[in-house]
Amino acid sequence: MFPTYAKYPISLVRGEGSRLWDEQGKEYLDFMSGVAVCNLGHVPMKVKEKIKEQLDRVWHVSNFFHIPNQEKLAQMLVNHSCMDLVFFCNSGAEANEAAIKCARRYHQGVLKNGKYEIITFEKSFHGRTIATLTATGQDKVKDGFHPLPQGFKYACLNDLQSVKEQITDQTAAIMMELVQGESGVYPAEQEFVDELSALCKDQGMLLIIDEVQTGMGRTGSLFAYEHYGIEPDIITLAKGLASGFPIGAMMGKKELREAFSAGSHGSTFGGGPLAVTAGLATLETLLDGCLMEHVTKLGIYALQRLTDQLQHYPSIQNIRGLGLLIGIECREPIAPIIQELLQQGLLVLTAGTHVIRLAPSLLITKEEIDQAVDLIEVVLKKY
Ligand SMILES: *Cc1c(COP(=O)(O)O)cnc(C)c1O
Repeated sequence: MFPTYAKYPISLVRGEGSRLWDEQGKEYLDFMSGVAVCNLGHVPMKVKEKIKEQLDRVWHVSNFFHIPNQEKLAQMLVNHSCMDLVFFCNSGAEANEAAIKCARRYHQGVLKNGKYEIITFEKSFHGRTIATLTATGQDKVKDGFHPLPQGFKYACLNDLQSVKEQITDQTAAIMMELVQGESGVYPAEQEFVDELSALCKDQGMLLIIDEVQTGMGRTGSLFAYEHYGIEPDIITLAKGLASGFPIGAMMGKKELREAFSAGSHGSTFGGGPLAVTAGLATLETLLDGCLMEHVTKLGIYALQRLTDQLQHYPSIQNIRGLGLLIGIECREPIAPIIQELLQQGLLVLTAGTHVIRLAPSLLITKEEIDQAVDLIEVVLKKY
């Protein structure tokens, strides 16, 4: 294999809920969920059963035919969002590609104004394809891949003036994460998002919210945009949408319908029977009972507990988050801390070089949070 990943020397071979086991039988408490993918924990029962049923029926038929669970999943996503339409693909990058293409084609093909520029933000992450790495506001993902496509501009999060400076008569859309996940868990400020949303409506720019990481209940509402009380024109989903099955989705308002007319975009695997069956069972579970209240409650609990127990350590700079997406910013690079947490049996994510990112299962318990915070404290004491 190409050495694109710096791998930990561990093979995780079995999972259940918030626990994983390696080949030697060592148990880990999982506060990463893949990369915020296994939002219902590992091998969630209902999703497992639905996939098993689908495995016995049919695996792939192409998008030339109706796929009942694809239509059910689309309907359910529409019913629980401010969006009207869905396009299915296989990943977050593809969902963002679809958003970029849809925004451009809306302006060029429907409004016929030729607009094509998209403003994104410093420290954002939107994917690894040529267009989405160009949209990404981090130089390290662009290194060696030039020339990059035209039409992307960059502003600073929480700085409206910096956005205004990038607007031209060619601006088609603004694309952003409401909590920047990969670069350090940076939430957008309410006032900034309000003003940005108003600016978009005023200037005829589409507002694209990248919910690939923040969506599917991660922040305590099904989608992060709900916290901010805004209505974006497009949202993109992937990571948590099907509990680990590869899937992505771009959702848009009905005005965008003709932008993606027949033949304008497509995907061989997108929305295939297995992935959408996993997606449907995942979404049904997320909406069942009071799981979102649980995420909100446990998110507040975790943030409070982390702050009370860790804030006074000299290595801690800041602790922040939304729902169960939490960043612990340290004063020094965290690589050695991560290694030691692994040895202690706690799996966490990084975000940039200085932030420990926590993204546990949404079904996490208080006891598991206490256990994780205690393990982090044991390690932090040494730094
Ligand atoms: C992970 C991520 C992506 C890319 O998703 P892939 O499935 O890896 O292509 C895009 N945007 C955000 C916000 C992400 O967190």
